[in-house]
Amino acid sequence: MIDTSSIGASDISKKAMPIEFLDFNVYGLSRKDLEARLSENSISAVHAKSVFRSLYKDLAPASDASHHFPRQVEAYLNTLDLSIPLSIVSEQRSSYDRSIKFAVKLHDDQKVEMVLMPESKRITLCISSQVGCAQGCTFCHTGRMGLLRNLKPSEIIGQVYLANLWIKSNPDWLAQCKLAPNLRITNIVFMGMGEPLDNVESVSKALDILTDPFGLYLAKRKISVSTAGHIDGLDALLENHPDVMLAISVHSATDSERSKIMPINRRFPLDTLIQKLRNLPLQQKNGLLLQYTLIQGVNDSDDHALKLVNLVKGMNVKINIIPLNPVGPSRLKGPTTERLGSFRKVIHDSGIRALVRYSKAQDIAGACGQLVNP
Ligand code: SF4
Repeated sequence: MIDTSSIGASDISKKAMPIEFLDFNVYGLSRKDLEARLSENSISAVHAKSVFRSLYKDLAPASDASHHFPRQVEAYLNTLDLSIPLSIVSEQRSSYDRSIKFAVKLHDDQKVEMVLMPESKRITLCISSQVGCAQGCTFCHTGRMGLLRNLKPSEIIGQVYLANLWIKSNPDWLAQCKLAPNLRITNIVFMGMGEPLDNVESVSKALDILTDPFGLYLAKRKISVSTAGHIDGLDALLENHPDVMLAISVHSATDSERSKIMPINRRFPLDTLIQKLRNLPLQQKNGLLLQYTLIQGVNDSDDHALKLVNLVKGMNVKINIIPLNPVGPSRLKGPTTERLGSFRKVIHDSGIRALVRYSKAQDIAGACGQLVNP
């Protein structure tokens, strides 16, 4: 990291930023941030566009790219940390579906995981927003670690940058997946380690960068933020990104059971959460994805399914039913095939769209709830 005492004129704009955004790495700046900082240093803000293009479209390392800009721009960029703030330390390939789970090391030697998932004509990257997680959902391996720290915007964007660089350097993998040789990440899901809305400032800044037309330029409908139902975080996220896609984890339709599975329910109970979802802006309400992890003998009966149907009655939602992915030495198990089919049928017969989602990368512990600090 750079010595912040030597920053000089650009320091003014950094002091004005909220503490969460004290991210001196170039990959943590939105184009608006960069424009403001260039202007404060009497440099034309228009250069921010070419800096973004160079970083995110050409995938040029910032330290190399800075030499190609006018001297004043280069001098300003050199006051920032231009390093890629994380590195891939290991990869595990799934033999089932060609997904790849990467362990990624941060500057303080903490590690997070991200998972690359090829599909027909698209590549989805599941990224982490925290090292560990404070929410402690009983079925989740990440939750057992507790929260070690939040990721900075540059560490969230860095995952996408690294994954795109990896794809570019591995044309064989694209060919094996029958994907176009120039395809890069098309979809992002914030479903890796952490509760994204517990780190909403960084996630929101990362969304600015991911969707920037001069940067990665991903459509908001191709980015999903998954939450255990953090209502305060949801309000903050929607203030800046009212059109991002949401995936809400429900896992039970009664407060008593949900609180046992997801302690966050004690802070944000079901009726408050559902009321909030019913009052979302139209585009959110109509694309709402609810996630329900099915755990044998805990929340998988037909009665549970009926309660779920009643809970969301009148809402335009899609329900993803996710059979539990067993993790470590846990007494929790996934549902039987028969139970899974019956649970889905109850929901489907009520007229609600219900899909059974078998998580990708299960054989490499890269599926929902399986990611840990490796
Ligand atoms: S399921 Fe999500 S919110 Fe719950 S402990 Fe795991 S990472 Fe945290």
